[in-house]
Amino acid sequence: MTLEARLGAPAIKQRSVWLDERGDLYLTVYNSKETQLFRVDSKSLSRASRKWRLIINEKLERMRATGFIRAHTTFDLFAEGDPGYHYLLFRIMHYNFGELPDTLTETELFELLTITDEYNIWPSLLRPWIAAWIEPHQAWPGPGPYDYSSDFVRRLHNRLWVAWKLGEIEMFRKLVEILIKEVAPGKGTELLISGKPLPKSSEIPGLADFLEKERKQRVSDLLGVFQEELRHCQNGERRFCTLIGCSDLERSMCDFIVMGSIIRDYHKHVLDPAGHRGKEKVQSVNATYDRLKSIEIHNYSIIPGDGIAATSAPGLTHNGCNPTPWIHDKLDAIMFRSTWSLDAGLQKSLEYVSQLTGLGRPRVKGTKRELTDDDETAKPA
Ligand SMILES: [Zn+2]
Repeated sequence: MTLEARLGAPAIKQRSVWLDERGDLYLTVYNSKETQLFRVDSKSLSRASRKWRLIINEKLERMRATGFIRAHTTFDLFAEGDPGYHYLLFRIMHYNFGELPDTLTETELFELLTITDEYNIWPSLLRPWIAAWIEPHQAWPGPGPYDYSSDFVRRLHNRLWVAWKLGEIEMFRKLVEILIKEVAPGKGTELLISGKPLPKSSEIPGLADFLEKERKQRVSDLLGVFQEELRHCQNGERRFCTLIGCSDLERSMCDFIVMGSIIRDYHKHVLDPAGHRGKEKVQSVNATYDRLKSIEIHNYSIIPGDGIAATSAPGLTHNGCNPTPWIHDKLDAIMFRSTWSLDAGLQKSLEYVSQLTGLGRPRVKGTKRELTDDDETAKPA
C-alpha cells in the first residue's frame, strides 16, 4: 500500500487536494506516473522551508515585474517518488494532523527525509512525531554477525542517512561502528563495502574520512597485539611460559616455539611480522580480526623417546603451560571496545539536529519516556 493510500487520500481519484480553502498557491506535484494538484498557503510553505521561500518569492517577484498579478499563483514541482510524501508534509504545515500515520516503514522514513533534505525543510517540523516514527527502527540490526548482502548494505545506509538527518546519535554510532569494521579501501580515496562503493551515506560530510581513519587505526591496533609479543621476544624478555619453576632452557624453548608459530602463521595468513602487507591485502577490520584469531600459537610437548614436538593441543603443551592466553582477549578488547569518539564535526552536527528534532533528550523506550535522576534534578524547585 502506498503512503498516500494509507493517508486515506481522496487525491488519487480527485487529483486535487485543498489543504487551505483560501490558499494562495496552486502546486502541481507530478512524476512520470501521476500528477496531483494541491491548494496550499504559500506562507505555510515558506515558513517550513528555506528553499520553498526562495522559489515562491522568486515566482512572485517575476509576476510583479511583468505586472501580472493574480490572487493566487501556480507552479509545478517534480517529485521523484510518491507524491504522498509531499502530501504528508503539507498536512503538517497546514495543521492538518488528524490523519497522520502512527508508524512509517523504513522506506517511507527514508523517502520522507530525502524530501525534507531536498527542500531544506526544518527537521523541527517533524518533532512531535519523529520519536514514535523512528522507535521501531532503532533496534535494527541486532547483534551480528551480519551477512553484508547488498540488501543489508542498502538498509544500513538508508538508516544511517535517517539517523544523520534526525540527529539520532546513538543509532548513528551503532551503524557507523558496523561500517568501520567492514569497509575496505578502493581506488584512490574510495571506500568499498562488500566490494561496492559506499552509497548514500558517503554524502554525509566527513564520514568517509572518519571511516578510513578509524579502519586504519583498528587494523593497526589488532596487528599491534602480535607485534608487541614479537618485540618482547626479540628483546629477550621471556614472558610466554606460564609454568613456575622450570629451567631457563625450558622457558626459552617455550618462547622460541611461540615466536616461531606467530611468524609462520603471519606468513600463512599473508601478513608480514613487521606489519608489511603481503600479496593479498588484509584491509577491513573484520577480515584482519578473523585472520589474526585463526593464528595458531604452538607450544611444545616432551614426547618420551622422540624429544620435543610443537603442539597447539591444550593440556599437552609444556606439561600444562598455557603460553598466550591473553592474545585472544586483547584482540577481542580492541574489536569490541565501545569507547570511541565520533569525528568532532560529525558529533557537533548530530547534536545540533538532535536539538531541533528533540531526539537529543533522554531515550524514548516503548511509548513511555524513561525518566532519569537528571530529569529529577533538572526540575525547578
Ligand atoms: Zn612453557
